[in-house]
Amino acid sequence: MNAHDSEKVVGTLISRGYAQVETPEAAGLVLYNTCSIRDKAEQKVFHRLQQFKRDAGKGKIFGVLGCVAQQEGEKIFEKAPHVSLVAGSASYTKLPEMLVQLEQGNRRVTGLSLDTDETFETPFTRRDNPHRAYITIIEGCDKSCAYCVVPFTRGPERSRTSASVLEEGQRLADAGYTEIQLLGQNVNSYGDPSAAGWDFATLLAHVAGIPGIRRVRFTTSHPRDFIKPIVDAIDADPVLCDHVHLPVQSGSSRMLSAMDRLYTRDEYMRRIEWLKNARRKIAITTDIIVGFPGETEADFNDTLALLDEVEYDSLFSFKYSPRPNTAALTMGDQIPEEEKTRRLTIVQERQRAIQIRRNAATIGTVQEVLVEGRNQALGQWIGRTSQNRTLNFVADGVGDEQLIGRYLDVRVTRAGPNSLVGESVM
Ligand code: SAM
Ligand code: SF4
Repeated sequence: MNAHDSEKVVGTLISRGYAQVETPEAAGLVLYNTCSIRDKAEQKVFHRLQQFKRDAGKGKIFGVLGCVAQQEGEKIFEKAPHVSLVAGSASYTKLPEMLVQLEQGNRRVTGLSLDTDETFETPFTRRDNPHRAYITIIEGCDKSCAYCVVPFTRGPERSRTSASVLEEGQRLADAGYTEIQLLGQNVNSYGDPSAAGWDFATLLAHVAGIPGIRRVRFTTSHPRDFIKPIVDAIDADPVLCDHVHLPVQSGSSRMLSAMDRLYTRDEYMRRIEWLKNARRKIAITTDIIVGFPGETEADFNDTLALLDEVEYDSLFSFKYSPRPNTAALTMGDQIPEEEKTRRLTIVQERQRAIQIRRNAATIGTVQEVLVEGRNQALGQWIGRTSQNRTLNFVADGVGDEQLIGRYLDVRVTRAGPNSLVGESVM
């Protein structure tokens, strides 16, 4: 989502006559898009800003965008006086105005209001990937998970109209894109603000129907709002990819309640059942937090048992990181860092064994991949399956023909924990 925000910002700047350069050194204006989801990411920002400082005297203008900008606000000017612009994502619609102020010689410009019902839509998005295009359909978050900074940094939930989403999708298809990824902090909480009033499942079905689009993905789904019609929509149309990312965070209902996640373990497992009973095999991935305040060994074991039960195809796992303004910050029974590290390692080892097993089960199958790149050193093409697995393959008989962007059938011959290897079926 951050990467796509950057694409929109770059596009907006280019439309105003700016040109993009290869390195920060070559730039006159440096806009740094930031993440504050965990403390480590935030620390990186201030370290990087110190590095920029060396170039500050050379007539360069620095701006900080994104969640650290929103969270720290004008304090950034104190910590890094060489910064001239600080703007959170809820203010990006005002970026053109802010740039005018900078061009007029204004030394300090801020965009920090969260009071908005607008989404950042721009026809000028400069996309980095020539085949997969991201479309934000919903911004912000109205939930209040006890550990999470997003509701404080990205503002209230607001959806785009279905007509504007379909129009952008059609424009992308006309420009040659074949894959669309719909984005939102909670993408499935989408609610069409126009008279059409579509829910997420209805929008999915229509986006999949755009002529020229061969794959549609979406992320991230919140379990509470993950309803059966979403699985029915996937079932009805193979353009909707065989993959759902459904962050569980913990396998313990006690922890889920403390986190204010709005679902129990059983309610989550019902969603997993729908996915497992679908007509096509749908890959399921998740996010896990270990070491949330008060997490006992028994709670942690519930998470490990959930991993065994669901058998995720992949997961992101994090040590709980205390964040400003959040409810969990002041909760008792914070877990020591070494214990969080121990639990994280156990989760990752357990999941590695599951992935080795699940990936090995694909050996011998033929999968359609979108060719995304070439690994010259290994002489392999890099493809991605509908289930979002990386499948590296050789394509004898096609010579050096440029395959990137094409869809090919590939037979899986080997599997590791994180990717598959195969050969094209010509
Ligand atoms: N909205 C999505 C949901 O609720 O499932 C998640 C979006 S959040 C930006 C991405 C992931 O970051 C979360 O699923 C969670 O696992 C992780 N995360 C968020 N805050 C965290 C924190 N304070 N410490 C550790 N991990 C965190
Ligand atoms: Fe953060 Fe929870 Fe909102 Fe996801 S639903 S963005 S984890 S507050």
